[in-house]
Amino acid sequence: MTLLTGAEYIDSLRDGREVWMDGERVEDVTKHPAFAGMIKAAARMYDMQHEEAFQDQLTYVDEAGVRRSRFYKLPETHEDLVNRRHMTMSILNEVSSTMDRFGDETVTPLFVMHDRKDLLDKYDTRYHANVARWLDKLQRTNLFMSSANTDLKGDRSKQPFQQPDKDHYLRVVEEREDGIIVSGAKYETGASYAHVAFVKPTVGAWIPENTDFAVAFVVPMNAKGVKHICRAPLARNVDEFDRPLTAKFDEIDTLLVFENVFIPWEDVVFSRKPDLAAAIRADLTRWAAQGFLLRSLAKADTLVGAALLVSEQSRVDTVPQVKDRISKIMVYREALNAFILAAEAAAQRTISGLWMPNQAIQNAGRVYASTNYHHAVHDLRDVIGGSPIVVPSRKSLESNEIGPIVEKYFRIGNTGAENRMRAMNLACDLTNSAYAGRAQCYQIFAETPIFAQSMALYSTFDRDGAKMRAAKMAGIRE
Ligand SMILES: Cc1cc2nc3c(=O)[nH]c(=O)nc-3n(C[C@H](O)[C@H](O)[C@H](O)COP(=O)(O)OP(=O)(O)OC[C@H]3O[C@@H](n4cnc5c(N)ncnc54)[C@H](O)[C@@H]3O)c2cc1C
Repeated sequence: MTLLTGAEYIDSLRDGREVWMDGERVEDVTKHPAFAGMIKAAARMYDMQHEEAFQDQLTYVDEAGVRRSRFYKLPETHEDLVNRRHMTMSILNEVSSTMDRFGDETVTPLFVMHDRKDLLDKYDTRYHANVARWLDKLQRTNLFMSSANTDLKGDRSKQPFQQPDKDHYLRVVEEREDGIIVSGAKYETGASYAHVAFVKPTVGAWIPENTDFAVAFVVPMNAKGVKHICRAPLARNVDEFDRPLTAKFDEIDTLLVFENVFIPWEDVVFSRKPDLAAAIRADLTRWAAQGFLLRSLAKADTLVGAALLVSEQSRVDTVPQVKDRISKIMVYREALNAFILAAEAAAQRTISGLWMPNQAIQNAGRVYASTNYHHAVHDLRDVIGGSPIVVPSRKSLESNEIGPIVEKYFRIGNTGAENRMRAMNLACDLTNSAYAGRAQCYQIFAETPIFAQSMALYSTFDRDGAKMRAAKMAGIRE
C-alpha cells in the first residue's frame, strides 16, 4: 500500500463501519451530509501529498527512495521538528485554519511509547515492536489516525475499579493467546471518517486495583463490536454562504463504544500495565501540544483577519478604540507564535535521543492558548458588533423580489452586499454560532482541562533553578 489519494481515502471509508447518527445506522458515511464537509477536507489533504507544491511539506523520501508521510515520522533531528511545523501549517493554510483533527498530532503518543523502548521491553518485547510496526505502516500509507483517550468516567468520586458499571472506563475483559478483549467507551473527534484510533488510558490513579484499565492499542474503525454513536450535526441544512465554517468543517465528535472487541496482540501497545499507563499519560502531549499551538495560531490569525475585514468594510478601522481591540487579538496571535518558535528553538532531547519542543515553554503556551482563546473571540465579537448574527440569508440576497433591498442596505460604497455578508457570516461562525461555541469548548478541554495543563507546566518547569535564584537573593546559603 502506498500513500492514499483523496479518492482512495473516500473509497476506503466504505468498509462496513457501524456508524449511528440520530438513532439511525449510517450505511455509507461518504454519502451522509453530516460528514460531507470534513471528508472533503480530509480528501484534499490526501491529495496535497501528491502535489508538487505540498509534497515536500507533507511527505519525505526514505533511504529506499519511497515517499512516506511526515505525519508519522519520528522527530530524530531538530530539522524534523521544524518540518512538523511546516507540515501542519501547510494543511491549516490550504484546507482550513479552523480544523482540529486531521491526524498529524494524534499519532504522537506513539512516539512517546517508541521513546520508552527500555521500559516497554521490561514488560513485553512485543509492545515496542508493535509500536514500530504501526509507525512504519502509517508512514507508508498515511492512514487517518484519530485519538481516543477520554472515558465516560461515570461517578467521579470513585476510582475506575470502584465504578458500579465497570465499562465507564475502557478496560481489558480478557487476555487470550491471540489477543485481548476490551469493553467500554471513549469520546473521539473525527472517528467516523478516520481509519484507525490509538486508544489509551485517561487520567487516572495508576494503582494496582486499576490494572484492567491500563491498556493501549491501535484499532480499525470498522472493527467488529465498535459502534460510533455520533453527536448531533451542526450542519443540518446549513448553507455555505450563511455559515461558512459550520457547513464545511463540522468535525463530528463520537461516542466510540467497544462491545467485547478483539484486539490481536500485534496491535496491543500494552495491556494491564499501570506503570506504562502512567508513563504515557505523563508525556502524552510532548509533540501533540505543538499541533495544538499551531492550530491555535491559525485560529488566532483568522480572528485577526475577520476583525480587520469587517471593520474595514464598515469603515471603523481608523477608530483608535477599534484598533486597540484588534491589537488585543494580535497580542494573542503573536504570543502563540512566540511560544511555538521559542519551544522549537530551545528544543530538548528525549531519553532515546528524539527531539521534542521545550516542554516548559510549550506547556506554558498550552495554558495560555486554552485560557485566552475565548477572550480573543470576545474581542472579535466586540469589534464586529451584533450585526453578524442578524444578517439575512443567501436566499434573501438572491431573491428577485427582496434581493435588491438587501443589496441596498448592506452595500457600503464600493463594498457590495455579498462580500459584506460573507465577512459577517465568517465572523459569526467564529464568535456566535454553535460552531463557534464548540470551538471554544474544544480550545478549553481538548488538551485536558486547564488545571491539568497547569500541572504539566508545574512538573516541567525548572523549579530548582528558580528556587536557587530566590535563595541567593535572600542570602540563604544551603
Ligand atoms: C469538542 C471536543 C472534542 C473532543 N475530542 C476528543 C477526542 O478526540 N479524544 C478524546 O480522547 N477526548 C476528546 N475530548 C474530550 C476531552 O479530552 C475532555 O473533555 C477533557 O479531557 C476533559 O474531560 P471532561 O470533559 O470529562 O471534563 P472533566 O474532567 O470532568 O473536567 C470538568 C471540570 O471539572 C474539573 N475537575 C475534574 N476533575 C476534578 C477533580 N478531581 N478535582 C477538581 N476538579 C476537577 C476540571 O478542572 C474541569 O474544570 C473532546 C472534548 C471536546 C470538548
